[in-house]
Amino acid sequence: MTKDQVVSLTQPSRNTKEEKSKEDTRKKIDQKVNQEVEKISKAKTKTPTLEEAEEQKFQDYIVILVDKKGNDILPDAEKLKTKASFLEKVFAATNELTFGFGTSVPNDQARQLQEVINKAYPIAKEIYGQPFFNINVRVEYQPDLIVGGTYNQSLNVITLRSSSEFFNVRETFIHEFLHAFHDDYMIPLMHWEEGMVTQVGNEISDRMDNRLGDHPPYSGYNMDSRCTFSNVQPKIPGLRPGNYLVWACVWDKLYAEGQNFFKRFNANYYSFFKNSTTPLYSFSSSQIENELKKIVYNISPKPEGQDFYAWYKYQYAFWSPTTYAGKYVIKPFPGLVSPSSNNILHYYYVDIQGTFIARNDSAEISGINSNGNIVYKATHMFRDGVLEWQRLALSGFEKVKYTIKTPNAQQVLYNIYGVNLATNEATNGFFGVVNQVQNGNVAVFLAPYPTPVARGKIVNGTFTIPTTGNLRGRFRIVVLNSNNKYVTEKTVTKNYGDYAVLFE
Ligand SMILES: [Zn+2]
Repeated sequence: MTKDQVVSLTQPSRNTKEEKSKEDTRKKIDQKVNQEVEKISKAKTKTPTLEEAEEQKFQDYIVILVDKKGNDILPDAEKLKTKASFLEKVFAATNELTFGFGTSVPNDQARQLQEVINKAYPIAKEIYGQPFFNINVRVEYQPDLIVGGTYNQSLNVITLRSSSEFFNVRETFIHEFLHAFHDDYMIPLMHWEEGMVTQVGNEISDRMDNRLGDHPPYSGYNMDSRCTFSNVQPKIPGLRPGNYLVWACVWDKLYAEGQNFFKRFNANYYSFFKNSTTPLYSFSSSQIENELKKIVYNISPKPEGQDFYAWYKYQYAFWSPTTYAGKYVIKPFPGLVSPSSNNILHYYYVDIQGTFIARNDSAEISGINSNGNIVYKATHMFRDGVLEWQRLALSGFEKVKYTIKTPNAQQVLYNIYGVNLATNEATNGFFGVVNQVQNGNVAVFLAPYPTPVARGKIVNGTFTIPTTGNLRGRFRIVVLNSNNKYVTEKTVTKNYGDYAVLFE
């Protein structure tokens, strides 16, 4: 997808106010496309990290064609405005997506994609509800596509990059046809639209392959400020680009608490616009976010036992770079789930525009183990905002808590030993560190919490409870000392798979 593919077509003109807001939208889209293209072309010049590779796998574009005045061309949404009878029909529970294949799709691939539709589309409806519109979606292939796939909501066309690995094509295809569920009413907030689509796509894929799935990034990347801007790639200021997986993990929590979440969300999202005289594209980003939050609040008022609005506020993955304006930020990369043998830190100053500026300051690093002994002490320099040092080679269960101090910022990073973080299998279940006791016990309760579903031992300030890997829902994780006396607890929701919990 290149910028000049955003071509001009004609469309009925709208009033000036709408044109102004459309002009803004168009600029944003142009900017986004440019930035994405720049990002991906840059990424090609180096070997992607694990995190980047994961992101790129799901990176895609939404294409909206614009007319000569810069208005988005959304024919399906236009019908909503112009035909009252269509309004009823468009929200009918019987809306379906039908699919057709363009001539660019080889016959054998079309057959394979049709099999994917036969399996995945019914699962999609089960999880995501009905499509917003009754539309036919055409599928095309483009071998040199810069991303895995695109969805063109003006033309209802999915374009896929052909690949020798059909699994990759399948994953992208599912992702793109989930965008077609919203089509012209696609949520204009990436962390919502892409996050939900990525999560539902993962769930569909897991079910198709009879996997329980694994959802590690959230606990590794969304814990607090140490992980908050794993989604911000500083070369692309002003945008929250593609940490689709971490966004997905936020929505995953609501899905883990109630498997009707997405279905109910979509039903309520559609009916909001059925009853609204204002079309989606007349809302500002913050207005639509507020409306959507109300919808989610009505479905899931207390995620992880907290008030939804308070909970939402601390989904750091959703924060925009300007949240950090005027701050110095140290970020461990790639976080807890790293199989890497090195610890890597990124360090930036964020200016008032939200631009991340790499720093070259010195950093004092000290590491203490579970006995409270200093096991590491050194002063390093950040070079172009990056600092790397080797993890200590320790055996058995142990933790090292590193404190990193620069002249303007401080950060904490844990290395956990005895837990295999290199794997994406659900081998650890709940795992993490405990600072309050060195040795003791952990009891895990699953809502509504009658009796523990699992227990584990705290050894040298670390724990892992592998049997919880195959459980999902809202949990209370209770820390007990070596005399089984209550010390502290946390309430967290996870889907199947591993999940890090830090008792600090
Ligand atoms: Zn997408």
